[in-house]
Amino acid sequence: MSNNSEKRGRILILVAPSGSGKSTLAKRLRDMYPSLQFSISATTRKPREGELDGRDYHFLSPDQFEERLRNGEFIEWEEVYNGTRYGTLRSAIENQRDKGYHVLLDIDVKGAHRINEMFGDDALSIFVKPPSIDELERRLRARGTEDDVSLQKRLDRAREELEWEDRFDRKIVNDDLDTAWNELRTIVRPFLGAP
Ligand code: ADP
Ligand code: 5GP
Repeated sequence: MSNNSEKRGRILILVAPSGSGKSTLAKRLRDMYPSLQFSISATTRKPREGELDGRDYHFLSPDQFEERLRNGEFIEWEEVYNGTRYGTLRSAIENQRDKGYHVLLDIDVKGAHRINEMFGDDALSIFVKPPSIDELERRLRARGTEDDVSLQKRLDRAREELEWEDRFDRKIVNDDLDTAWNELRTIVRPFLGAP
């Protein structure tokens, strides 16, 4: 892709309650569209096993996060869980777009809504919905990444996030993974101008 400003990359926002399958679908998108790059967010949460600083998140201490906030480096940020902050770095989006890459954002409903409004036609937001809260709980338990307290927080938050489902451009129910994937591909392909 060229550096031509008319060909700057577009912004694809996947939004979903934790455990809905967003990361699974995002990974498939990335594998299929090499022109799509993840925006790496910053967070004050600790890395999970297997997560790498600079690849999965920029893992920051609360002080480091605060400093970047004061420097105006975040285009949006939220305290997603009590005491845990997550934020989208302006540079994470703009550097990629300048290079002509499309940018994939995986952020919470409030941040997603804000960025979707901010970027107008350059952004497309897709809400990925679990078939039910019970199924969401099953998937989170099976993933085995959360203790009981964290799991309950995520389920409470999921109930709140599901109330936002109609505020995004498109909605997909992730019941059967391959069906959801096919729907997602059909929506994303024309937006990215991919063959
Ligand atoms: P999120 O990124 O939204 O938190 P993940 O992609 O990590 O969710 O998915 C949560 C768990 O559910 C993972 O273990 C994943 O393998 C599994 N999963 C994702 N989609 C489906 C599906 N359609 N059916 C069953 N399990 C799924
Ligand atoms: P996790 O701890 O499971 O990686 O992410 C928890 C939640 O934080 C998810 O809903 C994820 O989408 C959201 N999140 C991750 N990065 C950002 C960000 O930069 N901004 C906002 N607002 N939410 C984010």
